[in-house]
Amino acid sequence: MQITRQVAEQNNMIKVTSLLVEIGQFSGVEPHALEFAWEFVSKGTVAEGSTLEIERPPLVLFCTHCLIEYPGDMEDLRCPNCKDEVFEIRKGREMLVRSISGDKKTEKE
Ligand SMILES: [Zn+2]
Repeated sequence: MQITRQVAEQNNMIKVTSLLVEIGQFSGVEPHALEFAWEFVSKGTVAEGSTLEIERPPLVLFCTHCLIEYPGDMEDLRCPNCKDEVFEIRKGREMLVRSISGDKKTEKE
């Protein structure tokens, strides 16, 4: 919500109609919970009534044994090469706003 407000201000937006957010599978954020919470946090703000689109990017893990990156699967996080579970998370923890659409101040109604 804070990011949304900032971006809206920077772009002279008077109304935010939709948002595209990226939520990594390891971010600990539950998309449904976020959608639900969004209704409440956006109330009374420029983003009231906006639609929230959630994207879940694929996980990217890095095996510290084989020194290779591999696509992660929440069901099976093991390295496909050594079948070990000694990985670092390269991609999957992020939570960011990809794009915001809305009406700008300069536009006529
Ligand atoms: Zn490995």
